[in-house]
Amino acid sequence: DPGSGYGRALFLEPTAAFYAAPEVAETKASLQALWPYLRAHRKRLSPVLMTLLLASGFALLTPLLTQAIVDKGIQNRQISLILLICAGQLALFLGRMLSEFVRARLLLRIGARVSTAMLKAFLHKLLRLPLSFFDNRQAGDNMQRVTDNQRVEDFLTTSLVSFVLSVVTILVLGVLLLYYHWQVFVLFMLGGAAGIWWNHAFRERRGRLDQKRFGVLAANQDMLLEMFGAMQEIKLTGSEARKTRQWEDIQEQAITVKLESLRLDQLVQGVSSFINETRNVLVTCFAAVLVVNGQLTLGAMLAVTYTCGQLSAPVAQLTDFIRAMQNTRFSLRRMAEVHQEADEDTPQLQHLAGDAVTGKDIRLQNVSFRYGHRHSPLVLRHVNLLIPAGKVTAIVGMSGSGKTTLLKLLLKFYPPQEGDILLEDTSLQDFSAESWRRHCGVVMQDGYVFRDTIAGNVFAGDTEKNYERLYEACRMACIHDFFASLPFGYETLIGKDGYGLSEGQVQRLLLARLIYRNPSIVLLDEATNSLDAHNERAILRNLEQFFTGKTVVVVAHRLSTVKHADQILVMDKGAIVESGTHAGLSASRGAYYQLVKNQLELGK
Ligand code: ADP
Ligand code: MG
Repeated sequence: DPGSGYGRALFLEPTAAFYAAPEVAETKASLQALWPYLRAHRKRLSPVLMTLLLASGFALLTPLLTQAIVDKGIQNRQISLILLICAGQLALFLGRMLSEFVRARLLLRIGARVSTAMLKAFLHKLLRLPLSFFDNRQAGDNMQRVTDNQRVEDFLTTSLVSFVLSVVTILVLGVLLLYYHWQVFVLFMLGGAAGIWWNHAFRERRGRLDQKRFGVLAANQDMLLEMFGAMQEIKLTGSEARKTRQWEDIQEQAITVKLESLRLDQLVQGVSSFINETRNVLVTCFAAVLVVNGQLTLGAMLAVTYTCGQLSAPVAQLTDFIRAMQNTRFSLRRMAEVHQEADEDTPQLQHLAGDAVTGKDIRLQNVSFRYGHRHSPLVLRHVNLLIPAGKVTAIVGMSGSGKTTLLKLLLKFYPPQEGDILLEDTSLQDFSAESWRRHCGVVMQDGYVFRDTIAGNVFAGDTEKNYERLYEACRMACIHDFFASLPFGYETLIGKDGYGLSEGQVQRLLLARLIYRNPSIVLLDEATNSLDAHNERAILRNLEQFFTGKTVVVVAHRLSTVKHADQILVMDKGAIVESGTHAGLSASRGAYYQLVKNQLELGK
């Protein structure tokens, strides 16, 4: 399928990999997927149907009245009758407008509600997916799925109704046509069917174009997201021209796709309207011949040509509907692709409530792990280790040796490919990730500050919002005085486009978040490396007290941080190469000794 690879083949430059849309299993999505959402609005659907029936009634009456004007009014020379019929027609027109007004109102409401409900379900799904889902996927891909949902809303508010309306109108007027003359009816229907067939014939080509369109738009979203996030880096590295070129590349692709679509539309619509016109001319011609032969009254012929004229729009709308349906199916499929992904947690998994983890050792048995692809290298190699409950375990090692990865496995962000991680005797795989993580307090290397108030950032997932404990946690993280000194204190907005924090302040905030959380298991990934020596010493002293009774894993670069750990593990290229205490490891003059020595030399 040449179309599906579009997002991937977008760039010849190295950027190709960055904007690549990930492979997804082919998902079928029919319009039935809309029904669960529509069902909630059943009460509003019936008045909509009522207005549709009314509309078809009006449509039926108009040609009959036209015939009456000619055959009754004119033939019998009764001006009062003509006036009466015309007044009736005006009344019908007014009624039709009113019912259309009501229908539009109801539909806009249903469409907006259904679309919001779908997006909400999508967001919920995203929040339930494992981290690995987001690892190899650019944000723009999901953003575009959300944006694309607008097409579903449009479908519900306009296309679907005009389809039903068209079908009803075609049925009613078709019957009328049949009543006047069956041959005219057959002639008209053949012409209509030809137009629809012509439109339908291009659905695969349209599907491929849509795929391309999606890929380009997603790439565009990615590009913009990255650019806004990396403005400082762009300026620092003088990448403006390069970024502009990349953006232009995407726009070029967008234009190509757009033009290709327009060309296809022109072809399809041009031929369609030719078919329609031909059909109408043939019908008029045929009806006129019938009048000449005396098989049709002049009034009936007028009614027939009028009816065919009235039928033209609904028949054209059927072809529009085919198009809208294809679009909607495409957008529904983009949503379904995400919905079919497996949740991180399944209901069978065990819940870890209360203090279910306190006093329990964590054990890694022969754990091996690689990120993503089957052919990528092993990042952890047959790791065996015991993390004793209530003790402090430190992990040191060169950058890239797999320390952060080890923590991510402990957090159940990824399952090990081989071996197992056990809490006492039970595999972590058997516990729900959400409940397990509730027992873990973590400061990651790339910890994140939300766009929220300072208090909101420290409370994070907590709903109790205990301000006493908040202040205490910030005092322990040596950041209380700073926060209190800000103009809005703890209610100051931080994060993107809020009050800026320095790296060290961010780290202290993250530590305060951890302390406030008061978990049974503490994982720190280089959590104090941005602090000055003075603050680090003070915080480490406070942490020591905080650590009592908790199972702690500290990944640290500075050896001053790990000296007092109960056990120190040295990692190298994904394996544990040494373990022991500071004294023991220093004496044995192995890898740990080398690390210490290098650091001392740096200090000189
Ligand atoms: P450390 O924390 O010891 O510096 P990491 O655990 O961060 O090391 O990384 C170990 C190895 O895993 C590195 O070689 C890195 O390139 C690779 N790696 C880290 N994260 C990912 C990822 N999301 N996808 C693929 N490889 C990764
Ligand atoms: Mg790391």
